Amino acid sequence: MSDCLFCKMVSGDIQPNVVYEDDDVLAFRDLNPQAPTHILVIPKRHISTLNDLEPGDEALMGNLVLTAARIAEKEGIAEAGYRTLLNCNAEAGQTVFHIHLHLLGGRPMGWPPG
Ligand code: AMP
Ligand code: ZN
Repeated sequence: MSDCLFCKMVSGDIQPNVVYEDDDVLAFRDLNPQAPTHILVIPKRHISTLNDLEPGDEALMGNLVLTAARIAEKEGIAEAGYRTLLNCNAEAGQTVFHIHLHLLGGRPMGWPPG
């Protein structure tokens, strides 16, 4: 989608700080990190929100989670612990409408989230 920030990262028009890439997934450091490690894992295909997922997207979404776990290991936060989350729409605070999984770690996380 031409006016989507994260699609521009996938196409190379904008160059994020990439930590992992394969045919289906891109992972990069968040511009405004909320923890010592804050990485976004996105599908390369544009999907606006979790509400837009369809049957057939199971493997892709599983790939996002598996990618996050592997990155957590590489970042050295796997044993201490980390948080993964996906915000969906306004009340959850979604600001970029291309699905992205947040990987946060490197500090203790509060619960419940705000
Ligand atoms: P959300 O609020 O769940 O939609 O998360 C969007 C995330 O994208 C926020 O954590 C932003 O800091 C992050 N973000 C926005 N623009 C950029 C950018 N150009 N590069 C990296 N991360 C970004
Ligand atoms: Zn997009």
